[in-house]
Amino acid sequence: MTITVGVLALQGAFYEHIQLLKVAADKLRGNKSMTKQQWEFIEVRTPAELDRCDGLIIPGGESTAMALVAARSNLLEPLRDFVKLHRKPTWGTCAGLILLAESANRTKRGGQELIGGLDVRVNRNHFGRQTDSFYAPLDLPFLPGDAGPFRAVFIRAPVVEKVLSPKEGIQDEELKRDETVVAPSRQPENAIAREAMADKVEILGKLPGKAEVDGMPQEAGDIVAVKQGNVFGTSFHPELTEDPRIHMWWLCQVSDAVGKLQKSEVVVR
Ligand code: GLN
Repeated sequence: MTITVGVLALQGAFYEHIQLLKVAADKLRGNKSMTKQQWEFIEVRTPAELDRCDGLIIPGGESTAMALVAARSNLLEPLRDFVKLHRKPTWGTCAGLILLAESANRTKRGGQELIGGLDVRVNRNHFGRQTDSFYAPLDLPFLPGDAGPFRAVFIRAPVVEKVLSPKEGIQDEELKRDETVVAPSRQPENAIAREAMADKVEILGKLPGKAEVDGMPQEAGDIVAVKQGNVFGTSFHPELTEDPRIHMWWLCQVSDAVGKLQKSEVVVR
């Protein structure tokens, strides 16, 4: 069976993700449990293309532009269904993380739509402007093997500044804040989605401190990788490196999620 993974290709670093997904899939072919798995990677620009996907990556770029084009392409609602109703595996990098957050600050009201799916508030452009971009070595214990820290690249990156408790009224509370936008809420559609929405936000990566600034660590402890059920977000851009480890790990997550979904469909039938 072929698993189809889409990369939202409205703006930003979608090409780079597709390239690294191919490298990751090749490497996984050497992995015993994955040898038979066939993958198809597609660029997603229309609801019909999204419909074909078992998993989706929302790349880095400019979240405001991406949200605008998504709205014009009639993709916003299908994307929200994909992530929040069907809880299909979705990974957002940088601008993609912003779009997957339930709440984002430093944004003019009405200036930006969010998809949502991660019960977090992100602080956009946390480290400043493009010229403040930097690399940092990250310990990501969820990655298998012992290949050392991941060299993460941060470009006008957001961080997760708060994990929100998924209680009633999360939207109202967040909307009381200035310059903060929130995603529209969604009701889980079926038992699997209800179960998935009960998932808690897990913190998968924190910045040890900005590297390469006079050798002094800064901003230690900022949250830069989170996962809630099938929704995964990173502040940085693994697609702009040649290290396929996170893509490999994520493809395994997609494969597991597809397997689970198929089993539950068999039970329902
Ligand atoms: N700061 C950008 C935004 O708000 C994201 C930057 C990036 O994806 N490199 O969308």
